[in-house]
Order: sequence, then C-alpha cells, then structure tokens
Amino acid sequence: MTETFFVGIDGPAGSGKSSVSKAAARRLGFGYLDTGAVYRALAWHVRNAGHDTADEPTVVADLDGFDPAFGLDPDERTVHVGGVDVTADIRTPENTAAVAGIARNLVVRERLNDLFREIVAEATQPGVVVEGRDITTVVAPDAPARILLTAHPEVRAARRSAEMGADDVAAVAAALRARDASDATVSDFLTAAPGVAVVDTTDLDFDQSVDAVLSVIAERREEASHGHGE
Ligand code: C5P
Repeated sequence: MTETFFVGIDGPAGSGKSSVSKAAARRLGFGYLDTGAVYRALAWHVRNAGHDTADEPTVVADLDGFDPAFGLDPDERTVHVGGVDVTADIRTPENTAAVAGIARNLVVRERLNDLFREIVAEATQPGVVVEGRDITTVVAPDAPARILLTAHPEVRAARRSAEMGADDVAAVAAALRARDASDATVSDFLTAAPGVAVVDTTDLDFDQSVDAVLSVIAERREEASHGHGE
C-alpha cells in the first residue's frame, strides 16, 4: 500500500487558508482536514457541558467523552459532536473566542495532534491536505509538502469582513489581531520553518492562490517520487 501523501498548510486567520486548501484538495482528489474545526468542536463540547475552556484539567477530562464525527470530503463539511450537528455553532463569535483556552492547553494539543496523524494514516484518498497553525512544524514536520500561507494583515481583515458580511473592517481587524496574538503564544505560524514553502496571497486572487499552492504540491510530489527511486 502506498502511503497517503501529506500536505500540511499553516497560516493565520483570514489568509484564505481554508478556502484555498479545500479547493486544492478538490482539484487533486485529496481529502481535506480542517484541524481548526476540531479545536472548535472541542470548545463546543466543553461549553456544552457548562465548563470553562480555560480550565485546563477539566478540559483534559472532557477529552474522554469527545467523539467528533466529520469526513475528509472537501465538499461535505458537516461536523457532529455526540450525534449533534454543530457545523454552524462551532463558528459563532462566542465559540470562536472560547477556542483560545483549548488552543493553549498543551495536553489537548498533543492528543489532537495524535488524532490528526491517525486520520491521515487511515485515509482512503491518495493524499490529504491538512490545514491549521502547527501542521508544518509539529504535526507533520517531515511531510513531503509543507506550505505557509500568508497575507498582509489589512488584506486578511478585508477578506474576513467580506466573508462575514461585516461593515466594520476595523473591528474585524482588531478581532483578527487579538486571535493572532493569542494563537502566537502556542505556535509560530507567521514564520516559515526550514523546508516550508511560503505562499504570500496579498496580491493574488483566489484562483491564483490555489494555483500557487498546487504548483508547490506538484513540485514536492515530483521530488518525493524521485526520492523513492521511482
Ligand atoms: O482555523 P480556525 O480559525 O478555524 O481555527 C480556530 C482556532 O483553533 C485558532 O484560532 C487556533 O486558536 C486553534 N487552532 C490551533 N491549531 C490548529 C488549528 C486551530 O491552535 N492546528
């Protein structure tokens, strides 16, 4: 059996990471794993139990009953927790704010990282695009294709506002900055680690961003196949 081709994509909120990763996976016939959705689902699970996501030992205990269900199909993004469809609820501002507590919990990170590696190892697709904050550095530092997607903060805020239909770009920019700062305490997703290709989407439109990511993946697949003497 050939190994699943692992594509790791990291980047900050609003870099276009999710939509670009999804489109790249679709074009390649690969699976798509949105690790942020799993962090969000755990935040929902903890809040649903009436617990505080910043309460580290309680969150670790809550992990035992956490049974998220989601697939790798880039076009089927439903997420269930305990049989409840939480697809919309994990993206509310309240839940998004609560994820910070989960993300800072190092025991949780280790457990979720193991889960992500298992999911990729068991995938039936020829490859999986795994998207998050620490995929290229912690989850899969040896992955054949690793990409950091970046964009200027103002461009990220403008894109996120358009996505949310929000008029107040300044408020969206402030929320993004706060989330970047909180996320940066646990992973450095603004600097590329050695061997990680940077795709800066500041001056690229959506299709150009997808093409840039696809060309890095094509290059790395080519290198990987030579590396295996094929
Ligand atoms: O990618 P998304 O914005 O949905 O991620 C939500 C939050 O989950 C991030 O702000 C971050 O705190 C956390 N996260 C993380 N590590 C990942 C993916 C997401 O800490 N690999």
